[in-house]
Amino acid sequence: MPIVNRVADLHPEITAWRRDFHAHPELQYDVHRTAAAVAEKLKSFGCDEVATGIGRTGVVGVIRGRKAGGKVVGLRADMDALPIEEATNLPYKSTVSGKMHACGHDGHTAMLLGAAKYLADTRNFAGTAVVIFQPAEEGGAGALAMIKDGLLDRFGIQQVYGMHNGPGLPVGQFAIRSGPLMASTDTIVIDLEGIGAHAGWPHRGVDTVLVGAQIVTQLQSIVARNVDPLEAAVISVCVFRAGETENVIPQHAQLRGTVRSLSADVRKLLEKRIRQVVEGTAQAYGAKAELTYTPGYPVLVNEERQTAFAAEVAAEIAGKDKVNTDSTPIMGAEDFAFMLQERPGAFIWIGNGDSAGLHHPAYDFNDEAIPAGTSYWVRLAEAALAG
Ligand SMILES: [Zn+2]
Ligand SMILES: [Zn+2]
Repeated sequence: MPIVNRVADLHPEITAWRRDFHAHPELQYDVHRTAAAVAEKLKSFGCDEVATGIGRTGVVGVIRGRKAGGKVVGLRADMDALPIEEATNLPYKSTVSGKMHACGHDGHTAMLLGAAKYLADTRNFAGTAVVIFQPAEEGGAGALAMIKDGLLDRFGIQQVYGMHNGPGLPVGQFAIRSGPLMASTDTIVIDLEGIGAHAGWPHRGVDTVLVGAQIVTQLQSIVARNVDPLEAAVISVCVFRAGETENVIPQHAQLRGTVRSLSADVRKLLEKRIRQVVEGTAQAYGAKAELTYTPGYPVLVNEERQTAFAAEVAAEIAGKDKVNTDSTPIMGAEDFAFMLQERPGAFIWIGNGDSAGLHHPAYDFNDEAIPAGTSYWVRLAEAALAG
């Protein structure tokens, strides 16, 4: 079965919602206009329950099927935009300077709203579909905030599914894989304290530039020599701040970076070795180092059964040859990983065609992906909740 007919009819309406969200981007938890629009639409569709303010600005809609059943499935979209100045001339271009929907969350929200409208209209399933609209996916862990606010227990959610658009993947196609799909991301901040000195008398000081440079280099030995070469790991030092002028050896330096992996074990190993390397290297040069290691999003791990099920639904919509079930994992991150730590489920990529990349100022969500995305949600709910 290709695109659901009724969803095809909704295409222009969903597109209009998407473009309205695009024109009014909001950041992090500050998604008040978007959340209000989502809640208002869910109410107008006749959802059995619409809850707002979950995880600060998250919105949830509950839709019960016509047939009796105890199953509850959660479908999740994200609502937040990015602090990027949009570089397009689209008629629905961002109206807020310095903010834009550069990750396509406008499209994710609109597609799930379209599915909610269809599901509330038809209710051709047994059990309950819960549509979840979260804030702060971009670094704010909005999914975790909603979980901490009781999302999963309050609505009895047993399985969760997520979807993200993928630039470069043709429109109408899907990609997924069982197991790790996206990376854990932790951040490191290393504050170095040496002894400032005249640059002509370096022996009287402890040079934090030299120590910092050694640490940057030594950290790469962790990836090269401690991590199993068949596993994935990234340590990127992206900030190195030290010094004010060319004839003074600076007393302080700060390094900052990101640490990523595709398994919980590698993640643990990276943290342990980074601590040892930072402390040991600083000590070897007579400097003091303070490492602040902040865990971010966990590895996003798709459950095997739910992944097979999601791939089957996607194949129903797109055709079997248009669903890649062995999608290569990426070292980007997604806070849907928090939901997958709590409940079995699966996260899938949907083709955004030949667009600019995610987080690029020229990026735009492809409205031609809407029929496939919304049909996927609709069929997923109906199949998961088949009586
Ligand atoms: Zn993003
Ligand atoms: Zn995103």
